Amino acid sequence: MVQKIDTPADPRPALLDLSPDELKALLTSWGQPAFRAGQIYQHLWVRLADSVDAMTDLPAALREQLARETRIGGLTLKVVKSGDDGLTRKAVWTLRGGETIESVLMIYPDRATVCVSSQAGCPMGCVFCATAKLGFLKDLTGGEIAQQVLWAARELKRIGAANDYDPRSRHKVDASNFPKHLSNVVFMGMGEPFNNYDNWWNSIEKLHDPKGFNMGARSFTVSTVGLIPGIQRLMQSGMQVNLAISLHAVDDEARVAMMPVNKRYPIGDLLDAVEEFTRVTGRRVSFEYVLLDHQNDSPAEAEKLAGLLRSRKGLVSHVNLIPWNPVRDTGLSRSTRDRINQFRDILENRGVPATIRIQRGVDIDAACGQLAGDLAQPHAAPPA
Ligand code: SAH
Repeated sequence: MVQKIDTPADPRPALLDLSPDELKALLTSWGQPAFRAGQIYQHLWVRLADSVDAMTDLPAALREQLARETRIGGLTLKVVKSGDDGLTRKAVWTLRGGETIESVLMIYPDRATVCVSSQAGCPMGCVFCATAKLGFLKDLTGGEIAQQVLWAARELKRIGAANDYDPRSRHKVDASNFPKHLSNVVFMGMGEPFNNYDNWWNSIEKLHDPKGFNMGARSFTVSTVGLIPGIQRLMQSGMQVNLAISLHAVDDEARVAMMPVNKRYPIGDLLDAVEEFTRVTGRRVSFEYVLLDHQNDSPAEAEKLAGLLRSRKGLVSHVNLIPWNPVRDTGLSRSTRDRINQFRDILENRGVPATIRIQRGVDIDAACGQLAGDLAQPHAAPPA
């Protein structure tokens, strides 16, 4: 399961970082015919090769040169942890500089989602999030972001073929409904995608390429703390990528205390931008709202949230309530199941569709906001 480990400082270019034209340029600079680039591209993005050895239709000398002078991707897989009876897998990777990032594959009946990281660490400083405690370490490249998705697609196939999970688990996945393909990519791992917009977008283009991995735009969901320039760029792209906004509070004072980014982009401006996004793209936007006990989970706050979203006629939205996953040394605690349900019921009764996010990966520290190595509280129980 662990691929060949290169030294972290490995300076060789990563094939997954190259565009088809760059790959062609590299191969022709080696004196190879251009069609070899097409073959390699197929191996990487269609057959999901994770080593040059699998590219058996290439001449042996070329395979050797590839292995010597390039690497497949910039990330090195360290370990894969298994949770939820084998239906959640967390990959722990290192970057060339030794920084750690994580990705999570979640398998459900008839669908599978991978949650990928866009940065090592994160500069946004949200007080309730484990990744924020690391501070900002490094931007991932487009190839490194995409590499996590290719891993998930490969891992999904392997798990299905080997029946490497418990078919009697409460997650109700068995041979009859085991997903054949990766259905969704959510950019909700470590980092803020819109703080690394160009590389994030590059990963979308790579994964979307009909000649390559060919994933539909609607299979992607990007989550942001609310960086308005990113929302506008996505809106102007014309691509039908889904947008999720981490809201988490209903007034600016409370939101600034939780999310420093709110000083720069306060709630009113953020909702203006989201309203425009909905008007231009016709897409329903989702709002994430992490529930913290007696911090942001009162009935009055649920009423206010419903009012805020209903008052904007152009907004077609949906609220995703996330029971907070414990992070050490935050002094915070998660809402009780009763308060979570009450919050949801108020939203629903006021006409705002709301769902409570199903928890995955808690047993392997792979749940939302827990991606930071050992900073999250290990083995936290689900909400009471
Ligand atoms: N930076 C982006 C994407 C990463 S986080 C963003 O903030 O939207 C994905 C979601 O998990 C965000 O809504 C984030 O606020 C939430 N989250 C962070 N820490 C959490 C925790 N400890 N428990 C539950 N959700 C958390």
